[in-house]
Amino acid sequence: MADKLKVLVTGGAGYIGSHMVFALLDAGHQPVILDDFSTGHDALIAPNVPVYRGNVGDSDVTDKLFAEHSFDAVMHFAASIIVPESVSNPLKYYLNNTVSTARLIRACVDAGIDKFVFSSTAAVYGNQDAGLIAEDAPCQPENPYGASKLMSEQILRDVAKAHDLSYVILRYFNVAGADAAGRAGQLSKPATHLIKIAVELVTGQRDSMQVFGTDYSTLDGTCIRDYIHVSDLSAAHVAALDYLVAGGASLTANCGYGRGASVREVLASVANVSGSKLAIENAPRRDGDAASLVADSSLLRDRLGWQP
Ligand code: UDP
Repeated sequence: MADKLKVLVTGGAGYIGSHMVFALLDAGHQPVILDDFSTGHDALIAPNVPVYRGNVGDSDVTDKLFAEHSFDAVMHFAASIIVPESVSNPLKYYLNNTVSTARLIRACVDAGIDKFVFSSTAAVYGNQDAGLIAEDAPCQPENPYGASKLMSEQILRDVAKAHDLSYVILRYFNVAGADAAGRAGQLSKPATHLIKIAVELVTGQRDSMQVFGTDYSTLDGTCIRDYIHVSDLSAAHVAALDYLVAGGASLTANCGYGRGASVREVLASVANVSGSKLAIENAPRRDGDAASLVADSSLLRDRLGWQP
């Protein structure tokens, strides 16, 4: 493991970012949070971690931050992440994800920060014929969310060629779960993600839920996703940090288990664990959804030594 590192975690008050802050603390590192609290929560902030309130694209904020701290690395989680919203409001996604990321990368280059870990997404791939998706699959995002992240990846790659900057781009499949010690969890409101909606249903916070699309060409007609636990995902970031500190070359890696579950299988599992019968309605397909997204995660396992 690397020595104690000072790491900026953008979006550190959000779902995945907050788990990351705890994982960094657990690994003996020193995280600092930058979050604009548009979707972040004070309740998710780890004790005694410095917090800066502001947008990653605001140079007044990053100038102050980089003047006050000397960072070994930046982990960039802050982003808008709701696929259907990106379809109805694409400019929000291009401005808040792509443009703000470009500004943050510029601030890093200006401050001489040479290690960058970027939260990307399986949504960059779009619909793929292959069973398992490897990193060299053609990227054809189906929605502005995926496109906004793919553009950010491209910016990072180009900047890394021109400047002293190494990166690990992690393409997340579907992130789920919560910190086993109960220090963080998923508080996003309104919920749009499948597991959170199903859990709200069985805990009496909603009366019914819908399955979006039952006519996909999958085994049971519903979409297939590769759900990865948020703590396994945080561990992949710690491994990425260690890899960059050891001088590893820039790379792009999928984060998933390599095993898919259909919407119906997920709901059956929630019903089984909770002992409840779920009130489920079949509904039309949701705009922008790919039929199947399952990771080939061998690169993450082989190059970063990650074990879920
Ligand atoms: N889904 C669903 N009902 C819901 C929420 C999601 O059927 O209330 C489906 C959605 O269409 C997709 C899968 O569950 O096929 C996973 O969606 P989620 O929003 O959790 O993640 P995404 O894959 O869009 O990032």
